[in-house]
Amino acid sequence: MEINKKEFTAAGIVISQSALERIPGFLEKNLNISHPALICDENTYKAGGEAVKKLVQEKMPVKVCMLGCSEICKADEKSVGSLLLDIDAGTDCLIAVGTGTITDITRILAYKLSLPFISVPTGTSADAFASSVSPVFINNIKKTLQAKMPAAIFADTAILKNAPERLNAAGFGDFLSKGISKSDWYISNIVNDEEVNEESLKMIQKPLDSCIKKLNKYGAFHEETLKTLMEGLVASGFSIALAGSSRPASGSEHQISHFIEYKINLGKTSFFYHGETVALGAYIMTSIYQNLFALRYNDFRNLLLDRGVKNESAETRDERFSRVFDDDSKKIIDHWKEKKPDKKRIEKIVKLLSVNWKYLQEVVKNNIYSTHEFEELMNKSGVPFNPVKMGFSPPEISDIIICAKEMNDKYTLLNLLDELGLLEFFAFRFIKQ
Ligand SMILES: [Zn+2]
Repeated sequence: MEINKKEFTAAGIVISQSALERIPGFLEKNLNISHPALICDENTYKAGGEAVKKLVQEKMPVKVCMLGCSEICKADEKSVGSLLLDIDAGTDCLIAVGTGTITDITRILAYKLSLPFISVPTGTSADAFASSVSPVFINNIKKTLQAKMPAAIFADTAILKNAPERLNAAGFGDFLSKGISKSDWYISNIVNDEEVNEESLKMIQKPLDSCIKKLNKYGAFHEETLKTLMEGLVASGFSIALAGSSRPASGSEHQISHFIEYKINLGKTSFFYHGETVALGAYIMTSIYQNLFALRYNDFRNLLLDRGVKNESAETRDERFSRVFDDDSKKIIDHWKEKKPDKKRIEKIVKLLSVNWKYLQEVVKNNIYSTHEFEELMNKSGVPFNPVKMGFSPPEISDIIICAKEMNDKYTLLNLLDELGLLEFFAFRFIKQ
């Protein structure tokens, strides 16, 4: 997967006041469009859709396709299908006015219909804007599907500032957690020899540093801070395209997020925004990373030899998966069994860790906040992150930590701990702290 550099000229990304005024000219001159459709819901129509419609209408007719959802819109086969029925034949461009869900749905449609699309974010809730993949629920499971990059992004900072604070705060959770995904990638590099794309990581680091600076200087909801956050969320999408996978922007914190979103989708957990579940995941992983790599290698080795801290038995794990994943459990149990490491594999991992323990401690030192720093940062952002305060009970938290890695095939610290038989130990340690 390559970034289409021709599509992403500087003119294609505008994050400023009055950014929307550039849309009609871009549609006409850069894309040669005459029949666009504007995708939004009732809220995002009010937030920015109406303004976009007025501006575009001065140049060409525009059809408004309103996503009908009672409260929170969901990217699933139903909403993709209903929008498909609503779009007129002859439509030559899609304009997504909204945040994560609307952008994800539009991106899939644009890909399937081979149409260009432009993104008009109405809040900084997630890093979905400049992505080339779309997470969509199909039969209740979140799948990441191939989708289309936007031809341009027009983010009006005045609109971003007016978005509900909870929505904007969620974006900080999604963006400021990138140190976890980065460290997970290095872990997989050591354990599995998975190649790390350093360029894609660099793309995120600069906006990450300036976002934290602005957050400390102006607070979370200042236009300047939100502008930098939006730049970071866009850069995060680019980094995914450059790496050809979501690795640079999504690790164990996103496995946890996907797991909670799976539960929300089944109606078994109350609703949280994507960025909020990522913040929760990042909090748990920050603590686990710090606990693990605070150990000297010899202490870690002793922990491995201590039979008292070993994982629950395969039978207990089966029971846990059956209870947690219900109808989907068979597939998940089979997959988990297939992945179970043999003695040789475990010996290999332990050897690799012994050689690279100091290096990994450096990775953690450079990329993972201390729990205190993390709490401070999230409190400043206004995003919830503490699972207990968010209403999760200790057994639910251990389900989250033990089951989350089954949501995708990425190798993260959660997978490593499971292979070594230490996952339950660190889950219980987090709960007890
Ligand atoms: Zn995310």
